[in-house]
Amino acid sequence: MLFCCAGAPYFLCLLGGAAIGSSKNRQFEGFLWALLFGPLGLLIIACMPYSFSYFCPECETGLRKNARRCPACGTRFRNTTS
Ligand SMILES: [Zn+2]
Repeated sequence: MLFCCAGAPYFLCLLGGAAIGSSKNRQFEGFLWALLFGPLGLLIIACMPYSFSYFCPECETGLRKNARRCPACGTRFRNTTS
């Protein structure tokens, strides 16, 4: 059966999509793209930019978690992790 042969690589695509996605703070999106488009979805999520959770209050540049300093304007932040 063709479906059975394609099953294992497809499952790996889902895991890969989630893994690539999580490195970009888009774990669920990565999984979803891989689910819909298979290997092509992996390429799509790999090309996506990092999803920022925080933004600089001065210039609104996207910041990664635990950023101590804005890469664009140099504003320093206190560590606000609760
Ligand atoms: Zn800034």
